Amino acid sequence: MRIANLGGRLVLITSDETAVDVAAASDGRFGPDPMSAYGDWSGFRAWAETVTDASGEAFARTDLGAPVPRPPQVFAIGVNYREHADEAGYPPDSLPVTFTKFPSSLTGPDATVTLPEGNVDWEVELVVVIGRGGHGIAREDAWDHVAGFTVGQDLSERVAQLEGTRPQFSLAKSHPGFSPTGPWVVTPDEFDDPADLAISCAIDGQTMQDSRTSRMIYDIPELIVRLSAVASLLPGDIIFSGTPSGIGNARTPKRFLSPGETLVSTIEGVGELTTRFR
Ligand code: ZN
Repeated sequence: MRIANLGGRLVLITSDETAVDVAAASDGRFGPDPMSAYGDWSGFRAWAETVTDASGEAFARTDLGAPVPRPPQVFAIGVNYREHADEAGYPPDSLPVTFTKFPSSLTGPDATVTLPEGNVDWEVELVVVIGRGGHGIAREDAWDHVAGFTVGQDLSERVAQLEGTRPQFSLAKSHPGFSPTGPWVVTPDEFDDPADLAISCAIDGQTMQDSRTSRMIYDIPELIVRLSAVASLLPGDIIFSGTPSGIGNARTPKRFLSPGETLVSTIEGVGELTTRFR
C-alpha cells in the first residue's frame, strides 16, 4: 500500500498517476488530514484493504506534499553507514547519534528550496514512519511498529553545523525546506526485502551517493529498539535513518549546492524526490 498527501488530503496511491481520496472513500472515517492514518494505523490498514475502487483519479506530482506533514517527533540519526562514518571522521558510537530536524523544515517531493548563507550539503536517507507507538520495543516486535518508508533528504548547512565547539546538528539542518520527504509512504510488505534497498542521489544527473540500506550500522529494528528504550515512539513519528557516503563536505575539493541545481534522491521501491535550489 502507498499513501500520500495530495494537496493537504490523505490519498491512497493506486498507480504512479492515480489516487483515491480517503475521506470520500471512507465516508469520513479517515482523512482528510494526512496525519489521520496514523491515529488508528491497524484500523486504517484494514479499511484500506477493503477499497475496491482501485482506479482512482489522475493527479499531478507537483500537488504532492510531505506525506507525513506534522509528525509528533522527528528523529534523525547521524553516522549510521560505516563508509560515511569513515569519511566524516567519526568512530561509530555505542548509541546511535540522535538529533532532530524541526518539523517546520519539512517539504514535499517536488520542492524549490532557497539556499541560506553558508555551505548546503545533501544527505539522502531512508525515512521510517511509525504506525504503532511504544516504549521499550523489543527487536522481534520492531517491524510491527513501522507504517512504512519514504525518501528523505537531510539537507545540512555545514558552516553553522561545524563552527562551534560542539556540532550543531539540529539547527543547521532545519532551515525552511531542509527536510524534503516523499513522494509517498510505502508499507514494508511491498518490498521483497525491506532491509536492503538501493539508495542514491544525483545533482543535475551526476551521481553523488550510491549505496544500499543493508549497510546501516544500526538497522531499522535496532534503531527502534535504541530510540524507544529512551523515548516513547508515537504514531506518525518519522526517523531519518542516516546517510551513506558521498556527501559534499567529505569531497576533495568540497562541493556544495548552488542556485539553479536540481537534486534527485531515489530509494528502490519507494520513489524519488526532486529538489531544486535558488
Ligand atoms: Zn543525516
